[in-house]
Amino acid sequence: MDQPAALLSDVRARIASAAQLARRAAEDVTLVAVSKTHPAASIAPLIAAGQRVFGENRVQEAAEKWPDLRAEHPGIVLHLVGQLQSNKAEEAVSLFDCIHSLDRPSLVSALRRAMDKAGRQVPCFVQVNIGAEEQKGGCVIAALPQLLAEARAAQLPLLGLMCVPPAGIEPAPFFALLGKLADDNGLVGLSMGMSEDFETAIMLGATHVRVGSALFGGR
Ligand SMILES: *Cc1c(COP(=O)(O)O)cnc(C)c1O
Repeated sequence: MDQPAALLSDVRARIASAAQLARRAAEDVTLVAVSKTHPAASIAPLIAAGQRVFGENRVQEAAEKWPDLRAEHPGIVLHLVGQLQSNKAEEAVSLFDCIHSLDRPSLVSALRRAMDKAGRQVPCFVQVNIGAEEQKGGCVIAALPQLLAEARAAQLPLLGLMCVPPAGIEPAPFFALLGKLADDNGLVGLSMGMSEDFETAIMLGATHVRVGSALFGGR
């Protein structure tokens, strides 16, 4: 196997064993291959190896890379995993099939308008600043019920909650807390877990893991 195919099959095998340990079905965990900073030439081998779901963290970079790749490879599903500015909502809605970073009321209205204009419903995760870190995106836990109420009133399609726990400390308590918040708010999707901790996230209920460097090598 070439390198990208080998990395993909390794990550898939690790997802399958984590799911098995948690008595979950591996198919219930979507692997989002985060291809930010990687050129089309590095992405193509993963597509050839069967990966179809990809994630990018910047609208501009995705707009440059993905239209050509998509034209060549049918069935690509593109997720936005990075922060979204309201003035990029229209572009995001036309480019992406899922948005993981809904984190404030102004974005609820910008996305509502963009989806109406495009005639296209793009499912969203609400991002929670689970470690209450100042520099991080995501809504603070105290503001979550109100944000969810506004998103529901605007009839945005909501998949669940997303988080990026603080770096350098055990992520499990944060994943468990996100799961509890989702439960409390009647949501089922959990976008959590990256290269370093996706197995832990799967044990704690992740439905979407966002894996970059374990698939592409370092950035
Ligand atoms: C880059 C990124 C990832 C992937 O991180 P890795 O550690 O490379 O797996 C996941 N989620 C978000 C929001 C990211 O920006």
